[in-house]
Amino acid sequence: MKPKKSKSDLKIAEDQAQILRERAELLLPEDTSSLPKDLSPEKMQEQLQELHIHQIELEMQNEELRGRKAELSAEKERYFDLYELAPVGYCTLNEEGEILQANLTATILLGTPKSALIHHLISKFIIHDDQDICYFNRKKLLSTHLPQTCEVRMMKSDGSQFWAQLNSSISKNKQNKIILNVMLHDITERKKSQSDLSIAAIAFESQNGIVITDTKGIILRTNQAFSRITGFNSEDTIGKPITIVKSGRHDKQFYDLMWSTLKTQGRWQGEVWNRRKNGEIYAELLTITAVKSEGLGATHYVGNFSDITEDKESEAAIHRLAYYDALTGLPNRRLLQDRITQAIASSDRSGAYGAVLFVDVDHFKTLNDTRGHNMGDLLLVDVAQRLRSSVRQSDTVGRQGGDEFVILLDNLSSDMTEAATMSQQLGEKLREAMERPFNLNGVEYNCKISIGISLLTKEDTIDDLLRQADLALYKAKDAGRNTLRFFDSAMQEALNLRTALESELNDAISQDQFRLYYQPQVDRKGHIKSLEALIRWSHPQRGLVAPDDFIHLAEETGLILTLGKWVMETACSQLKQWEMHPHTSALKIAVNVSAKEFRQSDYVAQVERIIKASGINPLLLKLEITESIVVENMRDTIEKMNALKQFGITFSMDDFGTGFSSLSYLAQLPLDQLKIDKSFVVNIPGTKNDEMITRTIITMGRGLEMNVIAEGVETLAQREFLEANGCTAYQGYLFNRPLPITELEEFLKRDQD
Ligand code: C2E
Ligand code: CA
Ligand code: CA
Repeated sequence: MKPKKSKSDLKIAEDQAQILRERAELLLPEDTSSLPKDLSPEKMQEQLQELHIHQIELEMQNEELRGRKAELSAEKERYFDLYELAPVGYCTLNEEGEILQANLTATILLGTPKSALIHHLISKFIIHDDQDICYFNRKKLLSTHLPQTCEVRMMKSDGSQFWAQLNSSISKNKQNKIILNVMLHDITERKKSQSDLSIAAIAFESQNGIVITDTKGIILRTNQAFSRITGFNSEDTIGKPITIVKSGRHDKQFYDLMWSTLKTQGRWQGEVWNRRKNGEIYAELLTITAVKSEGLGATHYVGNFSDITEDKESEAAIHRLAYYDALTGLPNRRLLQDRITQAIASSDRSGAYGAVLFVDVDHFKTLNDTRGHNMGDLLLVDVAQRLRSSVRQSDTVGRQGGDEFVILLDNLSSDMTEAATMSQQLGEKLREAMERPFNLNGVEYNCKISIGISLLTKEDTIDDLLRQADLALYKAKDAGRNTLRFFDSAMQEALNLRTALESELNDAISQDQFRLYYQPQVDRKGHIKSLEALIRWSHPQRGLVAPDDFIHLAEETGLILTLGKWVMETACSQLKQWEMHPHTSALKIAVNVSAKEFRQSDYVAQVERIIKASGINPLLLKLEITESIVVENMRDTIEKMNALKQFGITFSMDDFGTGFSSLSYLAQLPLDQLKIDKSFVVNIPGTKNDEMITRTIITMGRGLEMNVIAEGVETLAQREFLEANGCTAYQGYLFNRPLPITELEEFLKRDQD
């Protein structure tokens, strides 16, 4: 819209018309007498014609003038549009910087009316800090006469600021004076986005590694910190999948969770182990942000990370300091407590016993006092090392403080006595580990330890356990050191007995305290066909000890090997003696063989040696093996059985039906006999289940062409049931108890008679 002409403009026009009129009157001739007085009609006509033409001429001139005037005012409006309302501000300055003219845009930009601009210095509208820029710019323009540009902050009259670009050029006015034409652009917006960009650029090149990927994880951009941390420069990475930094330390589940969090929440933060270009694994704290575009969902991912490997390392160092003993490197009291708490919880879940052992170095104080603390420290380090190498990887050896160590055995056994035995055995192993003298800086030193043990169950608290183990340790010290003690006295008693038995058992062979008893095995007619050799221990104080009370112990200690050999030799020499008498020469002897014996690699050779040495007929020797032997190693069992069968030895499967009996293995074994376990026999007839098992075993045996014997036959009813179902041999109190050789021979004589 054009602005209305101002009042002052109209006034100027009126004034100009008046001046013209006055001048015209002055030009009018004063003496009008020179004009003709009387004119002929022709002349008049001529004059009139002349006037008429003149009038038309004037009219035409007027018309032209009006047209020119209209053109001028249109021009003026155009000028107003172009100049005053130009999109940039225009100012005309003199050499000193005084504003001579300014367009409307300039007044709007500066928020200042023209009257307050004209005749003022332009520097008045430039902020103080930028005035020099403007000054030098003007100086350069004046000296070079070349157009100049500068950017300055200008100030409106209300005090607000804006960024302006000033483009100035030089020209001369009508009076031939130099004037400066200045164009003013408001560049505030551009400046702002420029600074936003430089802020973004600075932020991108921050200390943190930044990586931008597309939604498929292909790297689009990385910053310098990324290269510094990972060792991969941008050529290595751009266009590659982000997985190039993967360390392999996290499983699929970890990444799956990361992606699903990113998808649902648009952001993920966590610690990640990645791999540098040189293969080194490092830890980073990573934040991934999804860049979303409206309607499109995520378009990019921005990963921002810092290298926290050092933090992790110092974290680990702090952890070491907090949880490990500086001298020995063992877990300290705090970590031990953690582990014991865990062990109690684990015992609650598994129902198994654990144990806490308190280990104390005997006479440590004396060493410390007489040889100095350095020596003491050396010993502690060595003791710690020996303790550590004596336990399982899963057990904890910790230093409780001073010369006290704690050993935590987790998950020993759900049987209390067994758990106690295991911890006792370990305790003994620890004591043995100290037997070798220590070398402390060239000085030989003998060190013993005392041990207190408390079994750990789910009912215990950590305080209970430590107190009990400590008490047990004092008992051990009281007992003269270099020993171990249990907290629980009943358990201690049981273990004492066991320990005593163990040492006595060791001597029993050399002291000839074992006896072989023989229990007859009869056929349908009740005729004795063979005898099972059953061992007894004739203990000088305890009397006759049954095998159930010592075979297990002998198996555990390995004594069973010597014992087994003794049984085999005794049985064979018995066979040899019987060979000479017609009424005993056909009798067989069945010998029980333990898994541990049978597993010996030279078992076959041992048996061969004994049968050769005794000179018996191997056909008379029957070996009773159990399913546990077979289950351990089927192939080895079959091989050994076949080798022994080559000599003529026969085999009976003892305790059949109680183990893992399965037809598949039974058919592969070169067995001669199945022995129905007495636990089934005791319930027949009457218990349907056991009746069925018994019947099945008999049928199975016959199908496999093995003879079937029932053990533990005590009643006639049992015998009749068995017979009715096809069983052909029996053993049990109904016929005979196991008898010592003299009684047996008497019985055999009577049986003959
Ligand atoms: P086993 O091989 O099952 O031996 C049978 C057990 O049942 C014997 O116990 C025997 O005395 C007992 N018995 C016999 N008839 C009856 C009866 O009518 N009723 C009842 N209730 N029991 C009867 P024993 O002699 O105490 O032997 C126990 C276990 O000791 C044997 O079980 C065997 O596993 C083991 N054993 C015995 N002697 C030896 C041996 O020389 N070497 C090995 N490795 N183990 C042996
Ligand atoms: Ca047996
Ligand atoms: Ca048996």
